[in-house]
Amino acid sequence: MSEKIPAAHVMELPRVVIVGSEVAGKIGSSIADLELGKTCLIVSGPNVHHLSERRIGPSLIEAGFRFRWEVDGPSTFSEVERIAMLAAEEQADFLIGVGGGRSIDLAKLAAYNCKIPFVSVPTSASHDGISSPFGSVRGLDRPYSIVAKPPIAIIADTDLISRAPRKLLISGCGDLISKKTAVKDWELSYVRTGEYFGRYSANLALLSANMIMEDAGIISSISSEGISVVVEALISSGVAAGIAGSSRPCSGSEHLFSHAMDIVAPGKGMHGEKCGMGTIMMAKLHGLDYGEIRKTLRIIGSPVKASEIGATSDEVVKALVLARSIRKERYTILEEAKLNEESAKKLAQDVGVI
Ligand SMILES: [Zn+2]
Repeated sequence: MSEKIPAAHVMELPRVVIVGSEVAGKIGSSIADLELGKTCLIVSGPNVHHLSERRIGPSLIEAGFRFRWEVDGPSTFSEVERIAMLAAEEQADFLIGVGGGRSIDLAKLAAYNCKIPFVSVPTSASHDGISSPFGSVRGLDRPYSIVAKPPIAIIADTDLISRAPRKLLISGCGDLISKKTAVKDWELSYVRTGEYFGRYSANLALLSANMIMEDAGIISSISSEGISVVVEALISSGVAAGIAGSSRPCSGSEHLFSHAMDIVAPGKGMHGEKCGMGTIMMAKLHGLDYGEIRKTLRIIGSPVKASEIGATSDEVVKALVLARSIRKERYTILEEAKLNEESAKKLAQDVGVI
């Protein structure tokens, strides 16, 4: 397949990525060479603050940084604004987000608004937002995915991440497996609409998914090796989005299903869990080996049936029908399947999701 290269294609990538045990305790020296300035605002939830301040604080002070640590609120537009204002008040040279999804996204988006760099310190491996240029916040009607900048540095402490509930790691695996169908959707859009398709970023995203498929056994065996596999795959997949300049390699019809579930059945299941189930169904529409995807999710312990996340058959069918209209500009297999209640139900039943 030949590539259509747009006139200007901007790739934005992290400058420093450190993955390993106890690396959060060396954050000061790790980011010192980046010349980010000396003042920073750190954002995290209350539990993470308690768990990580003793590691991160002294290391920053030792390296000559000044910081204020702010406990964040819900992932809303107004919270992004509040953090951005605080960063301006503190004359912060950069922002550090410490946590799982919410704090990382809030810090990333606030840093983007303030036009200052952002350092990502993930404490769980639940989705690829830890390295991607995208952040999501809840709007009044639905969640919004917003383009920002990727982190300038990612400090992924596998020791910290291993303390997070296992469910979060499992959700990360679902988010990674979803690259199987996301890339297929992107390829399809290239053929049907002429949209730019980047083979390199598509293959990098696929590599992340394949690593999870190959190492499912290791991941299921609660080991530091398994955690490293997931963390590195999530980072690569976020980087793939940075190279593509869009979330295309990481987010396709399976993500549209997950977003539709956020609306139809709010609070049921985690992002990656819903993406994993969506991948099984979209793989069937794409003619991929959905059984293999289902089997991998099973080995890892990720839900493959709606009832496992407390959702009903009705909710899955509604979400499948709604998914196509969530992001109209994004061409996916859903444009061709044109699911109605009947065909959506049959699809979900055929692959065992309901
Ligand atoms: Zn995702």
